[in-house]
Amino acid sequence: MDFAEYRLRGKEMVDYIADYLENIRDRRVYPNVKPGYMSQLIPHSAPLDAEPWDQVFGDVEKYIMPGITHWQSPYMHAYFPALNSFPSLLGDMLADAINCLGFTWASSPACTELEILIMNWLGKMIGLTDEFLHSSTNSKGGGVIQTTASEATLICLLASRTEAIQKYRDENETIESELDDAEINSRLVAYCSDQAHSSVEKAGLIGLVKLRYIESDDVYSLRVDKLIEAIECDKKKNLTPFFVCATLGTTAACAFDNLELIGPVCKKENLWLHVDAAYAGSSFICPEFRKWLKGIHYAQSFAFNPSKWLMVNFDCTAMWVKNCEALHRTFNVEPLYLRHENSGHGIDYMHWQIPLSKRFRALKLWFVIRSYGIKGLQNHIREGVKRAQKFESLVRSDSRFLIPAIRHLGLVVFSLQHGNHLTERLLKRLNTQGDIHCVPAALKDKYVIRFTVSSQYTTDDDIVKDWCKIENAATIIISEHETTKFLNVQGEYLTAAKKLGTFGTSLLLSNTPMSPKVVNGSFAAIFEKEDSVLSPWTQWLNQLCNETKFSPNLQKRTRGDLFRSRKQFSLDSRLNVVHQMFFRINSSPLLEFVKNTMNEDEIKEE
Ligand SMILES: *Cc1c(COP(=O)(O)O)cnc(C)c1O
Repeated sequence: MDFAEYRLRGKEMVDYIADYLENIRDRRVYPNVKPGYMSQLIPHSAPLDAEPWDQVFGDVEKYIMPGITHWQSPYMHAYFPALNSFPSLLGDMLADAINCLGFTWASSPACTELEILIMNWLGKMIGLTDEFLHSSTNSKGGGVIQTTASEATLICLLASRTEAIQKYRDENETIESELDDAEINSRLVAYCSDQAHSSVEKAGLIGLVKLRYIESDDVYSLRVDKLIEAIECDKKKNLTPFFVCATLGTTAACAFDNLELIGPVCKKENLWLHVDAAYAGSSFICPEFRKWLKGIHYAQSFAFNPSKWLMVNFDCTAMWVKNCEALHRTFNVEPLYLRHENSGHGIDYMHWQIPLSKRFRALKLWFVIRSYGIKGLQNHIREGVKRAQKFESLVRSDSRFLIPAIRHLGLVVFSLQHGNHLTERLLKRLNTQGDIHCVPAALKDKYVIRFTVSSQYTTDDDIVKDWCKIENAATIIISEHETTKFLNVQGEYLTAAKKLGTFGTSLLLSNTPMSPKVVNGSFAAIFEKEDSVLSPWTQWLNQLCNETKFSPNLQKRTRGDLFRSRKQFSLDSRLNVVHQMFFRINSSPLLEFVKNTMNEDEIKEE
């Protein structure tokens, strides 16, 4: 590809991207492919000869798009959002073209200097205290862009580990100066709540430190009394507490740990407090959401992902520390070829991160912040929260659903009244349909479906459409479940009848008081003509006889049932007809009818 062709193809690509994003609603958000689908489509070895661009690019729609989960779709409600925006796409396009590796100031001064400035902008935008910002005076604080929140947590854990090992040596100079770093490391203990992200566990594994999960309370916030208890217990065992990771906006339910309570404990015990606000951090640009930041001055480090909600495409994690010397002590290796005449004057970001090289990510952040302005970004966050409130009100309007955790920001978690099993079936059904996509979470022992509002293009209308799909799927799931239960009744009758010996199933239709197991039988009495509940049932059968969507065969059988319903009949003889009806008319009034006829105990899951 030469310059002339790049100019042409580049413009084509921009058009393709604009079309893709503009018409993304028309695509199925969750792909319908099985693992390994691509190996059937794409050759297993690289081509020896160059291929024309048309051929290469043509394969994108053929082989790639069918396997894409469309994260920018308004119907994407899984995980947390990972938004982009045009200024961000353009920023990364330029950064990719420049493709400088900003490990030292000298490796590309603008890359480092823009990052310093933009991290200050962003820090002020979300209301961080000055100690976290770069300043011309002798502040040791500052911000850096990392690749992911997981990496930010790991970096802070490693930096605090360095501090802890040093402190241990200082405090135990005479007694245990013989201990090497690995031995001290093995005594260190870190803490987070049972709601913390899995990346905290990963950081603990890599850092070879013990990690204690502290129980969360009934709003899924870390219990500080339990934290204090765990710290005391570890100290008694001669272990060394050193690090606490608090979460603002947990992954499961967007719950918030209380920094004002955790902070003083960390201060007293001299523990490094890291705050993971990967998703919720973006909301702090709106003053009304900053209440959760109270106590941030206790933290040593703070990180959030503009790559989630702030329309800066992946990757971009903003991380601030109060004292960058801890990072230097942990990550500083300085071979001769990386020294430059300004070493020690500008920042060399290679000492603030794990890899040597870094991308020019400040550029897209700069483009986005200037193109929207603080007001535009605040508006974007508030609109997302409004959509979530809309969804929440829809869920609350349907008594078959529960909202087991308070909604915060753009995440609503919900479940079916009927329990974990049916909620899971509902989610599976939705994802198989593929026109909306959600993922589950476990809240203690509750299985919930997470619904995050993602795209900035999501309208109230989209939310209503999504909710209709969820309600319809729920109706089907519940109806199938009731049918299965109904059929189980048959088995129970037969077992009970066999035990009783002389009693046949007709007894079960006589509506006499029965044991709880057989009590379901009373609902079989809907078949009994004299029963007061018969008439809707008869009406129902009547209606079915004339329902053309049923096969003539079924209509005929229904007529027979209608006829026989004048007499006592055996339940067994009817069950398969009822069964078929249930499956054919998923949202049937029959279901409502059966539900209304059954009493509370019967509706409860076994
Ligand atoms: C998304 C998320 C993470 C992980 O983010 P990465 O950038 O993918 O590592 C960590 N913690 C919380 C609370 C999150 O929401």
